[in-house]
Formats: sequence, C-alpha cells, structure tokens
Amino acid sequence: MQKSFPLTKAQLESLIKIYPTPFHLYDEATIRRNINRLKAAFDWVADFREYFAVKACPNPAIVKVLADEGAGTDCSSLAELIISERAGVIGEKIMLTSNDTPADEFIKARQLGAIINLDDITHVEFLDQCAGMPDCLSFRYNPADIMNDGNDIIGRPAEAKYGLTRAQLFDAYQLALDKGVKRFGLHTMIVSNELETAAFVRTAEIMFELAIEIKDRLGIKVEFINLGGGIGLPYTLEQKPVDLKAVGQGIRAKYDDILRAAAMEPALAFESGRAMTGDAGWLVSTVLHKKETYKNYVGLDACMANLMRPALYGAYHHITIAGKENAPLDHVYDVTGSLCENNDKFAINRRLPQIDRGDVVIIHDAGAHGHAMGFNYNGKLRSAELLLKTDGTVEMIRRAETLDDYFATLKF
Ligand SMILES: *Cc1c(COP(=O)(O)O)cnc(C)c1O
Repeated sequence: MQKSFPLTKAQLESLIKIYPTPFHLYDEATIRRNINRLKAAFDWVADFREYFAVKACPNPAIVKVLADEGAGTDCSSLAELIISERAGVIGEKIMLTSNDTPADEFIKARQLGAIINLDDITHVEFLDQCAGMPDCLSFRYNPADIMNDGNDIIGRPAEAKYGLTRAQLFDAYQLALDKGVKRFGLHTMIVSNELETAAFVRTAEIMFELAIEIKDRLGIKVEFINLGGGIGLPYTLEQKPVDLKAVGQGIRAKYDDILRAAAMEPALAFESGRAMTGDAGWLVSTVLHKKETYKNYVGLDACMANLMRPALYGAYHHITIAGKENAPLDHVYDVTGSLCENNDKFAINRRLPQIDRGDVVIIHDAGAHGHAMGFNYNGKLRSAELLLKTDGTVEMIRRAETLDDYFATLKF
C-alpha cells in the first residue's frame, strides 16, 4: 500500500511560495469521506451520532466540515467548548466528556445546552452546585471489573483514571434520578488507536449488557450509548485499516441480540477523532541540513512542536519526499527537528531515498493529535494550518505563530 498526498509536486511548490514550511495541510475531501464511511457502517441504527473529538484537531474550520456531514463535537475543555460554539455546533450536538472537570466547563456546557458526561460519582453533586442539574446526563463507565486480567484484547482499564466503577455507576444514576434528571446516556472509552474489529464489538457487547442491567435494576432506559473514540489508523504500510463495515455489522448483531431483544433501541454514538482527520492531514517541512556523524541525519524546519507523537510515543509516521515518491529507498536516515532534545526525531533509522537540502518532506497521517499537541519548548513556534477545500483552493485556517505571540504572555 502507498500513502497518498493530495497535491502534485508543482502544486505543492506554488503553495510553499505563499505559505512557507512548515505547515499542516488538511484535505476536506478525505475528512468528508472518513465520516461518511463511519455513518455508512452504522446506517442500520435509527439514531447514529458522531461527536468529533475536538482535541484531535481543534480548529473551528475542521469542526465545521464535520458538522456539515452531521457530526457533533466531543469536548473536554473550556476552549474546546468555545471552538464548538464558534463553529456553530451547540446544544445536544455537544458532548462534554472531560475528567477532573473544573466548574467553568460545567457552567459553559450548561449554557450551551451540551450533553454532560460525568467521569465520577462525586461530580453529580459538584455539577449540581456549580451549574445545576441538566435534563439529560451521561456517565462514563470504567470496565475494570470485567477486564482486570490484562489479557483482554482491550487493555487494562484498572490502570486508567477515567470513569466510574460498576457499583458507582448504579448509585450515580439513582442519585441523578433523585435530583430530577430525566434522560440518560451511557459512555465508555476503552480502546485507543485500535485496528481490530473484535475489540469494538466486545466494547459494544459490554455496554449493551450494561444498559440492560441499568434498565432492569433502575428502570432507566438509556437514550444513547457512546462507545467513545479509539478507531485506529494504519500508520505503517503493513497495517490494515479498520474494517468499519465489519465493525458495524458485528455491533449490529450484538445490538439485535441484546438490546432489540429487550425492546430497547438507543442511539449509538462514537466520539472519533483520529479516524476523522488523522489520514486527512500532513505535516509539510523542508530539509534545512544534512549531517553525517555516527549516523546520517536529515534536519527539518519542523520539530516536535509541530508533531509530537514520534517523540512522545515512538509512533511511526510514514515519510515521503516530494518528487521522490518512486525513488529507491536506498538510504537510512534519522529525520530530526531542531529542539535541544535528542528524542526530537520524526523517524529513526528510516529507509528513505537520497535526500538533499531543500527537499520537501511530507509526514503522513498527522491530521489528528498532531498540531494539536504542539508546544513552545525552546521557544519553537507552532505552524500554520491549511485546508485544501473540495473546490481545489487552499485556505489558511490558522496562521503560524510569531515571536510576538510567544512574547505576548511575558512580563518584564
Ligand atoms: C481522545 C478521546 C477521544 C478521541 O480519540 P481518538 O483516538 O482520536 O478517536 C474520544 N473520547 C475521549 C473521551 C477522548 O479522551
């Protein structure tokens, strides 16, 4: 399999004349394709929802593209709530799924009419005191009680800070009922960057059975079940993309067997970030230097400030060189940024074509948790974000930071 890039070398070169590298480029058509594939896989649910995880690509222009395809937003901070609001996504199109939540987030979420998804039983009282009880409330379940052996496909929820225990969950729904809440949802987020169909189907099965237990014990029929994010991306050429059709059909079978059989037909939701924008974004950068010491280095004008995943997680991001897509991979390089941090590398021992100074390096699958994770260590500035629209034009949807931005918060 090959990784694609939406511009020819000539188009890219003229773009760079207007917007110097580094920058993130997003492709609207790919984003639309991604959400439509997800919707198609769940077209058998009467009410299917995607709440786009804003943290993956927190730009109102991107939120708008997804909203145009029917998506809402999953927000976990005040800024993300405001991004959603500015993009015109308000009311129950927003799901607030934060943890360790400050009062101002609850207040803003209530003002916007968002669905609030609580991460802890103590937050019922906290929410009531700071913002008042909403009509509709959701709780985040941590399934460590049934997945504590660590060899489940899904991982080790007991080590995760998120969510309520099973026992707390029932108490929390009861408490909310007592406080006058009328409509309920159920949420979990178990998997992360997951590619296997079985993991999603298992998550759904656990949640559907839990919904039945909630109905049986408390008489609450949850209106929606949110399966969280975590739909993965094939970052390497060897990995296979998630088979969304198979995921949809696998979950459908559980939905029929467990929920429909008990006369429940709740809405189903995902709050996918990566699968919406990940492969729709590229970090474009220019080779500043080549260095040959104990290893061969290629130094870029981008650094960890623009894409942190390789340094933070050792994550693989595929790299191609504009115009050398078909050249033999007969060189081995470490591709670095300029931070005074030895882990500021986009690739280590990567087989690549012969690279020269001035070459344009394309780092793939950077559209989720890419620019968003940027930071200012070493005084490095975050890049611009560009959106390639379906009509072929390119719009700058965030300018690059300047030194004035960097100095704006300093007092001396
Ligand atoms: C990060 C996050 C998501 C999105 O995860 P992806 O891997 O980008 O799909 C969704 N929900 C919650 C609560 C999250 O923390």
